[in-house]
Amino acid sequence: SQEVRLAQRPLGYPDSETWEIADVEVGEPGPGEFVVNLELISLDPAMRGWLNDVRSYAPPVGIGEVMRAYGAGTIVASQHDHYAVGDVVSGTFGVREYAVSDGHDVTKLDLDVAPMATWLGALGMPGMTAYFGLEEVGRVQPGQTVLVSAAAGAVGSIVAQLAKAKGCRVIGVAGGPEKVAWLQEVGLDEVIDRKEGDLIRQVRRAAPDGVDFYFDNVGGEMLDAALANLAFGARIALCGAISAYNEEKLPEGPRRYMALLVFRATMQGFLVTDYKDRYDEAVAEISQLIAQDRIVATETILDGGVTTFPDALLGLFSGVNTGKLLLKV
Ligand code: NDP
Repeated sequence: SQEVRLAQRPLGYPDSETWEIADVEVGEPGPGEFVVNLELISLDPAMRGWLNDVRSYAPPVGIGEVMRAYGAGTIVASQHDHYAVGDVVSGTFGVREYAVSDGHDVTKLDLDVAPMATWLGALGMPGMTAYFGLEEVGRVQPGQTVLVSAAAGAVGSIVAQLAKAKGCRVIGVAGGPEKVAWLQEVGLDEVIDRKEGDLIRQVRRAAPDGVDFYFDNVGGEMLDAALANLAFGARIALCGAISAYNEEKLPEGPRRYMALLVFRATMQGFLVTDYKDRYDEAVAEISQLIAQDRIVATETILDGGVTTFPDALLGLFSGVNTGKLLLKV
């Protein structure tokens, strides 16, 4: 069975030197353990952060260790009381074909509710991020103007559609005409193509009365464009800052943060796992909206197996995905 290990910490974009592919024997599960045959591996922007040896919300992946990754698959051997052969599960199993687990932080997936891929996207970590970022940080009201960056991505696409379902006026930002068209199809009020530049003016045109809530997935210039267009009392959720993840030097700070003072606005960071105890609530709400065709859950599934993980990960930064980016094992 093959697995991908961290060989060397990258500076800038990860490359072939960053990774090492190893062949290992799959062991038998010990008492209290089971073996998962992984079928899908989740590609997450956070992975880039886990490669840096810095103080963060999770320890960095160690050199020589299997790359940390969420994934899903089917149990093929078990000595665990609560997990049986044939159960379909998700968890932090790593970039590998088979994983041995003790069940810690593992979730059983009901494929009658949704397919496995959706359980890693709209009903998985990204969907939970969208839901709690909107509910707890955004606390948006019907009629408010919501701006979402990386709006065609895993988190952003759910934020945008949840905000629509709440009766907000939603502006999405994405890269390129195909994603723009997709966001128009799912019903956003305005869509901005970030590749057309002049972000401040594009946001102003889409939100002449200002933005009440900005859900920030990208940071950088886009954050500045949002700050330049806040409504009074606006809120900003700092979900991520993908535009900086591969920068060798820290970028210049937000240039327009004085807008927080001028508009009595608040910017708040949050981490999805803070809401772990409430995931059931979010899964119930999002799955219901999917069933009612009020949320389109989509995934981009790359088909190369674990050895293509190094390239697949870079797809997040070039924006190959609409919806959740996954790698088929
Ligand atoms: P996405 O599915 O949104 O994929 C990343 C997208 O980011 C790309 O498709 C691309 O979209 C866009 N992008 C890439 N590079 C840049 C750039 N330089 N500038 C602007 N946009 C860029 O990923 P996720 O939905 O998984 O994650 C979105 C954000 O949420 C990330 O910042 C991630 O770190 C964060 N996150 C935070 C969590 C938390 O608990 N706080 C939990 C999960 C995710 P396009 O081509 O349309 O521009």
